[in-house]
Amino acid sequence: MNLNEALNADAARRRRECLIAKLSRPLSAEDQATLAAALGNPGVSSRAISRALGLMGVSVSSHTVDKHRRGDCGCRSETT
Ligand SMILES: [Zn+2]
Repeated sequence: MNLNEALNADAARRRRECLIAKLSRPLSAEDQATLAAALGNPGVSSRAISRALGLMGVSVSSHTVDKHRRGDCGCRSETT
């Protein structure tokens, strides 16, 4: 790998990763599955997810959850 490739790889990694993906990493596999299900469930509000994550020690705004749900974040390509 040359420097140019290294820089591109770093930029790509940063683009891919939004706060939701980054902050949910320490959660257990079970919690991550629950989070993924909640994110995909229109009946669960982004605010409720934000609050629940806050209780788990993961501080993330409902706005960030919203962006993630709309696919308006960097990690879209990784999850689909
Ligand atoms: Zn995201």
